[in-house]
Amino acid sequence: MSNKIFFTPGPTQLFYTYQDHFREAIKQDVPSISHRSKQFMQLFQETRENLHNLLELTDDHNIYFTGSANEIWERMIQSLVVNRSHHFMNGAFAKKFYDFALQYQKSPTKTEAAYGQVYDSLSIPDDSELVGITLNETSNGYMFPAEDIYTIKKQNPDCLLALDGVSALPAIPIDFNNIDTAYFSVQKCFGMPAGLGVWIANKKCLEKTALMEADGLITGSYHSLSSFEKYGRKNQTPETPNALSIFILGKIAEDMLRRGISFVRNETVYKSALLYQTAAQISILDPFIKDKKYQSKTVMVCDVKNGSEQIIETCKKKGWVLGSGYSEQKQSQVRIANFPMHSKEQVEQLCDFLVKEFK
Ligand SMILES: *Cc1c(COP(=O)(O)O)cnc(C)c1O
Repeated sequence: MSNKIFFTPGPTQLFYTYQDHFREAIKQDVPSISHRSKQFMQLFQETRENLHNLLELTDDHNIYFTGSANEIWERMIQSLVVNRSHHFMNGAFAKKFYDFALQYQKSPTKTEAAYGQVYDSLSIPDDSELVGITLNETSNGYMFPAEDIYTIKKQNPDCLLALDGVSALPAIPIDFNNIDTAYFSVQKCFGMPAGLGVWIANKKCLEKTALMEADGLITGSYHSLSSFEKYGRKNQTPETPNALSIFILGKIAEDMLRRGISFVRNETVYKSALLYQTAAQISILDPFIKDKKYQSKTVMVCDVKNGSEQIIETCKKKGWVLGSGYSEQKQSQVRIANFPMHSKEQVEQLCDFLVKEFK
């Protein structure tokens, strides 16, 4: 590994035990074993169990592995929506999910707020079959408050609540009693290479997709919720999977469990407070999300006076890689990730340096 530290919002810095687990995987022939072998089924089960414990899922939730979070958007539209999904949308990632529903010729509805702005209302149409909520809008640093998510579930008990947890789980606590389906990919908070998505779905989701299939609807091809469940019951996957990453993900989840998930989450809160305090001290940095209630704890997004290039280049000289703004905000904003592999010491050093250079 180089001496760089990636504070980018994904892909990002590798988890500090990644290399050890990688070596162990090679030693155990994980990349070469059959995905129908007992060894694979064991590691699959172990990863599922560790994630289950880490996220404090209910007995009703099952875990499946996909290629990315983008894939899960498509699978959810295929496997769980007949006519209408509803989408809370104030940033680029939520919009992508909505656009997938449009491409599948469903009739999605949306509660739209301007980029990074607060939603006027939490109510959704009565006929929504699934409601998509982005816990952490990585494009602009807007965090959807957990209490508001629970309110939406309470007001719409029959609508499937689908949570995009990509750049938030497991660092942000969520009570899964309120969540029917959720998903993330591993190149954000888990500090792994991209190419593995994790899809969590409860029994209500399985029932819905079974009804759709009974009606003769297509719910997906090689990957559908029912094919995942059919193979998942045997601790297997429909296709030849990314066994290496599934193995390492289970080990990193175990590392986090050993440290204690509340420790990881408390540290996230501490480091996040430090980052926002630092931004407050620096006149060229201005958090894009103003209201503390909605400020992301895992990705701080700031407007940078006179453009983000200078601060990014200055940090690069120290080996610290900051994220540029997303898409159209590339030049005008900076994004700094605060994920579980970013240690307290690293964030403190970065903050000290920023204050020294830019105050
Ligand atoms: C990165 C990201 C995604 C997309 O993840 P992929 O693994 O690239 O499909 C979706 N939602 C959010 C909030 C993200 O940050």
